[in-house]
Amino acid sequence: MNILVVNCGSSSLKYQLINMDDESVIAKGLCERIGIDGSKLTHQPAGKDKYVVEHEMPDHTVAIKLVMDALVDPEHGVIKSTDEIAAVGHRVLHAGTVYSDSIIVNEDVKRVIRECFDLGPLHNPANLMGIEACEKAMPGKPNVAVWDTGFGMKMPEKAYLYAIPHEYYEKYSIRRYGFHGTSHMFVSGEAIKFGNLDPENAKVIVCHLGNGASVSASIGGKCVDTSMGLTPLEGLIMGTRSGDIDPAVVQFICNKEGKDVNEVLNILNKKSGVYGMSGGVSSDFRDIEAAAKSGNHLAEVALDAFRYRVAKYIGAYTAAMNGVDAIAFTAGVGENDKATRKAICEYLGFLGVKIDDQANDVRGKNAVISAADSKVKVMLIPTNEELAIARDTLALVK
Ligand code: AMP
Repeated sequence: MNILVVNCGSSSLKYQLINMDDESVIAKGLCERIGIDGSKLTHQPAGKDKYVVEHEMPDHTVAIKLVMDALVDPEHGVIKSTDEIAAVGHRVLHAGTVYSDSIIVNEDVKRVIRECFDLGPLHNPANLMGIEACEKAMPGKPNVAVWDTGFGMKMPEKAYLYAIPHEYYEKYSIRRYGFHGTSHMFVSGEAIKFGNLDPENAKVIVCHLGNGASVSASIGGKCVDTSMGLTPLEGLIMGTRSGDIDPAVVQFICNKEGKDVNEVLNILNKKSGVYGMSGGVSSDFRDIEAAAKSGNHLAEVALDAFRYRVAKYIGAYTAAMNGVDAIAFTAGVGENDKATRKAICEYLGFLGVKIDDQANDVRGKNAVISAADSKVKVMLIPTNEELAIARDTLALVK
């Protein structure tokens, strides 16, 4: 049974066709510059050459039609007809407080996605366009919405409520939601399996360290806390996002620079993080590390601060769960950067965390990187959000 996974951005559409019999990727690809001049589809069928289609894509409906054509193309395709696709799983950012579990899309689900446009102004409209494009291209085929906020929706009230007047939660659903939900769900689940942990009670901290970064704490796979909030701005220092900050900084910059709140929020989202701290070296952690190595003090401090913030969250989440059985690193930095993993774990000696340098010399595959006598199992677990979405989709349509 094949599941098509679709992840729509405002001008892009990523897809994977996954054979759920063995969870192998049969084809994947990307439509870029949708609605902009110069749009193209890059289609990669497994075991065949890459196929690039340069074609106008005024909207997501045309993009999905081109994806369908590529999938069934006699030369570059991987299936004979779209009948071989059982269902489509969509990554959808936000369902507000309405849904946390994945769900088959109907009119009510689409209404909720629409009502949450103000909570996910960049993603929710694109996600809805992707769903509607698939409905048009494959009438009657089930579409499933998998929420990026789903994992965080299981947090208890004490973790998700902000200490602001309660009326704002009641009127506008202002609360902490958490993002990267499919990644935290997938990695915490894999960590429990790979680490042979108790599936009901294992206390797991997942560090999703990429350009966007977040930490989660879960017990038996159920979220206890996670570092992103109402928006992905809260929590860790990221590529360009500030993470946690005193909100008074916003007012201060507004007053000093004559900017409005929206401008300053834009700075906190797009010009801050290691990019801003390093004085504009880069938002890419490889560049920051290279600059730090060559003696750039601000890059060194940015890297130190990034690692320090992750360690502080691990300490806090260990207290939140009254213990921790496993810490799992994932995403671009977490999967590839042994120096950052080691530097973070060096803060955690008081928990009995011990890294095995040889075992830590690994990238991109499931691995235990802690020493045999470490009190906490430290792991590298590559994330696979598409597979997580495909599994949820399959479970609903089987
Ligand atoms: P992601 O958002 O998960 O795709 O992660 C992207 C981030 O991972 C970028 O900032 C990359 O610089 C970073 N990254 C990838 N490989 C490495 C590496 N070997 N060392 C440090 N950072 C890396």
